[in-house]
Amino acid sequence: LPQQPSETGSAPIIRKKLNGYVGFANLPNQVHRKSVRKGFQFTTMVVGESGLGKSTLINTLFNTGLYPPKEPLPPSAERPQTVAIESISADIEENGVRLRLTVVDTPGFGDFVNNEESWKPIVENIESRFDSYLEQENRVNRQKIADNRVHACLYFIQPTGHSLKPIDVEFMRQLHTKVNLIPVIAKADTLTDEEVADFKARILADIAHHNIHIFQAPTYENEDEEALAEAEEIAGQIPFAVVGSDHLVKTLDGREVRGRAYPWGVVEVDNEDHCDFVKLRQMLVRTYMEELREYTNDVLYENWRTQKLVSMGVVQDQSVFKEINPASRMQEERVMHEAKLAKMEAEMKMVFQQKVQEKEAKLKQSEEELYARHREMKEALEKQRADLEDKKRRIESGRPLTPEKTNQTRKKGFLRA
Ligand code: GDP
Repeated sequence: LPQQPSETGSAPIIRKKLNGYVGFANLPNQVHRKSVRKGFQFTTMVVGESGLGKSTLINTLFNTGLYPPKEPLPPSAERPQTVAIESISADIEENGVRLRLTVVDTPGFGDFVNNEESWKPIVENIESRFDSYLEQENRVNRQKIADNRVHACLYFIQPTGHSLKPIDVEFMRQLHTKVNLIPVIAKADTLTDEEVADFKARILADIAHHNIHIFQAPTYENEDEEALAEAEEIAGQIPFAVVGSDHLVKTLDGREVRGRAYPWGVVEVDNEDHCDFVKLRQMLVRTYMEELREYTNDVLYENWRTQKLVSMGVVQDQSVFKEINPASRMQEERVMHEAKLAKMEAEMKMVFQQKVQEKEAKLKQSEEELYARHREMKEALEKQRADLEDKKRRIESGRPLTPEKTNQTRKKGFLRA
């Protein structure tokens, strides 16, 4: 087989044919098992004026009563003056796959007389979630990183049939580099098919005009035709014209469906001829949930992280910067961190050893001093004993003591005492 130069430009990569089954073809199954065991985290944000059907659509999408029915505010109640950020989480399971779903709601958006900067608290919330992820990545122990980043943002457009409003454009312009934007036309059952088609065209033109990037289903070169066709079909429906309903209604032909009943018939949520709900679900849940998570991590978060670190004064060799992927960069950071720890440990050991040596030398010195004093005292005692022996002998033999000796002995005895 022909040899190919490796991507790094060093040793060439040789293609080899296997002589039998090795088993690495089972790798995808291993990855599958592991991710099923670990479960998934997915956070979606919903933004749009109140009453556009956000909570109803979320309940419809995940087929659960995640949002309890809303109590209307009494007329006397004080209305909040700012956009609030509220999140609801639920653990849901389907065929053994666990999903921790978090929906971040933004009540108040677009509801005030002055909606200028309504987007601000939302951007701050998205960035604080990036911050918290970055902080976890920089911890010494990175075993359990909770991913609370927003993976998708459903932006609800009022079904006016005209074009985007300034608040829509401003919101998307401020948010499109921080989150995967998925625009939807709310309550599409209030528009005719023709109106929906015209409205979609105008919205897309506005989006293009303002250079807003909305999430597009990715396509890969070696993908099969079916997947390519699916991606194209989904892309063709953006912005999704949706209808939400979390209860069942009876159709004229007697079927029970999720939908909205009108005097002239039923609008079915799950019927692709009636609305784009099915396509939206495909985009958000069935086909591209992992792509949304991946794009958030690899592109949106990574760009934000780079900007943040650069603004903090962290510099990096630009040539290296472009080439390495986030995983290898993280690995590199870990190696550097470990080397730093090892160096600190070695330095502490050295200081400790030095201190021990000093102490030992001091102890040895005082031991020697003690020993010398002991020897001196012993010698003096020996001498005193010898003198006394001598004196005793002289007394016994009847010889008188010489005055000189007596003095000497006395003096010594006095000194010792
Ligand atoms: P939110 O304030 O954006 O969360 O809106 P809700 O989900 O609470 O819905 C507000 C009202 O609109 C409720 O009375 C819903 O029954 C209704 N609604 C929700 N979705 C749709 C829809 O797709 N079409 C129509 N016509 N009404 C809807």
